[in-house]
Amino acid sequence: MKTVLKIAALMLILTSGTIFLSCDKNDNDSTIPDDTSLLSASDAEGLIFMREEEKLARDSYFKMYELWNAKVFSNISKSEQTHMDLLLDRVEQFKLKDVISQDTGKFVNDDLQKLYDQLVDSGKDSLIAAFIVGATIEEVDIVDLIKYIDITDNEDLKCTYDVLLTGSRNHMRSFEKNMKNAGYTYTPQFLSQTDYDAIINGSHEKPNNCN
Ligand code: ZN
Ligand code: ZN
Repeated sequence: MKTVLKIAALMLILTSGTIFLSCDKNDNDSTIPDDTSLLSASDAEGLIFMREEEKLARDSYFKMYELWNAKVFSNISKSEQTHMDLLLDRVEQFKLKDVISQDTGKFVNDDLQKLYDQLVDSGKDSLIAAFIVGATIEEVDIVDLIKYIDITDNEDLKCTYDVLLTGSRNHMRSFEKNMKNAGYTYTPQFLSQTDYDAIINGSHEKPNNCN
């Protein structure tokens, strides 16, 4: 029951923080491009935010692998590194400053820092709790990526976000399979049951190539 309580607390942080985090909450001027003709301010802030959210996924899975030694976490952690790299390519393309910390588990965005701390704490309880952390992160990622795909007109960003979205759906299926094998039925917290089922019932997807 302890896990359930912790996840409930986590959801509070998630709903008040990540998903509804508005662009104007981040008043870090360094995320604004020098040449605003390259990218709109909201796209720039979205890109910087998503890069750090992918780091949150990578670092959380890295930590869960340390705790539980389950291969799914090391595999997906590596995949999150490629997602971070794809976003870094865009950060450089649009001449933004890459503001993320090089230290595992350290975040510039306070909401992401709180979320990470809470997630890692939840994942210490049991292997199933760690899988729930994984599924939770993927749900948040999917919701945020869809949000940023909707608000941008930039085709390069849209393409890269779509690659990450494909990855997140694959990751969600992996975590779901692990939970199912452990006898746990996951209930989506941010996606509708219909959207969640559509992802889970889909097969592994190959991401597009953006150039
Ligand atoms: Zn990702
Ligand atoms: Zn992922």
